Amino acid sequence: MDDVPHPLASLRLFRRVDVDAIAGLLAQCSERVLRQGELLLDPERANHVLYIVLKGELQVLRRPDSRIPLAWVGAGECVGEMSFIEATLPSAYVNAGVDSRLLAVPHELLESLISAQPQFAVNLMQVLSERIRSNNLALANSLEAQQRYRSAAERDALTGLHNRRWMQEIFPAQLEVCGRIGQPAALLLIDIDYFKRVNDGYGHAVGDQALVHLARMFTERLRPTDLCARFGGEEFIVLMPATALSEGWVVAERLRVRVARTPLAVSSDENLHLTFSGGIASWEPGLSLEQLTIAADRALYLAKREGRNCIRSSFDELSVDGAEAEPLPF
Ligand code: GH3
Ligand code: MG
Ligand code: MG
Repeated sequence: MDDVPHPLASLRLFRRVDVDAIAGLLAQCSERVLRQGELLLDPERANHVLYIVLKGELQVLRRPDSRIPLAWVGAGECVGEMSFIEATLPSAYVNAGVDSRLLAVPHELLESLISAQPQFAVNLMQVLSERIRSNNLALANSLEAQQRYRSAAERDALTGLHNRRWMQEIFPAQLEVCGRIGQPAALLLIDIDYFKRVNDGYGHAVGDQALVHLARMFTERLRPTDLCARFGGEEFIVLMPATALSEGWVVAERLRVRVARTPLAVSSDENLHLTFSGGIASWEPGLSLEQLTIAADRALYLAKREGRNCIRSSFDELSVDGAEAEPLPF
């Protein structure tokens, strides 16, 4: 019996803690089961419990509907310790990223636990200092503020979308956040098909109108976390943070189909059908925005070459036989 380690002994919060010596205290704690998406902490509600994740994963969110968590809290880590230390309200929302099981340690029990086993406090401090070092919260907050500030000044006059200068500032910062929180990202380059024909056939003013029409569709149809900018002329660029290539592909396809099916009424009896081609590339740590854009541009080139009105990815490019590639211009 004595040889069987206590189930909590393997968690880092209990490292070098004599768990058997505090078994009586732990027995007074309850377990809590959370379903995926269920809210645990919110800044409006006082919290008096330290929750230790036994199984699953929690997400720390800036808003209850945020798609990109500020941080994840996995097995052996905890939430709710700040209100014990500072006696303040929780600073963010915390919900279950997946179905999770937690040990709920009321704050008054926590005091007894620390008195009995000071090593527990040392472990708690280590967990906290790591969290502070990663500093996701501060970074994400400052980014959001930066975005809000810039959005007023750095928009494209015709379409109202953000412009290229904004993109060059914001996209690398977003990629850095993705790197810090261990998330992927996908970049989509969009180029309108045969747009010269629109200008030639209907005039520049209708061309402008078509760009506004497309930009509206992009902002309506992309997800709130996707960042879209006018890259230049009839080209647009979309960064999808925390999005794997396959997921980004689905978003791009949905947009492509939507555009192809939504003509612009240029007069009472004429509809202008527009399509675009897209190149999508996936970001990984170490890749610069410039390298990522080049990869997406190559994929876009492939989409144009394969007939337009389609999405191609940087992986498609790898599968193209080198012998078929266009000769270099020298
Ligand atoms: P492709 O399918 O190969 O992309 O064909 P395309 O005709 O779209 O090719 P290209 O990129 O060469 O042409 C883009 C055209 O977009 C040329 C330019 O006159 C037009 N354009 C760029 N900016 C604007 C704008 O602000 N307003 C209007 N009306 N036209 C623009
Ligand atoms: Mg173009
Ligand atoms: Mg074009």
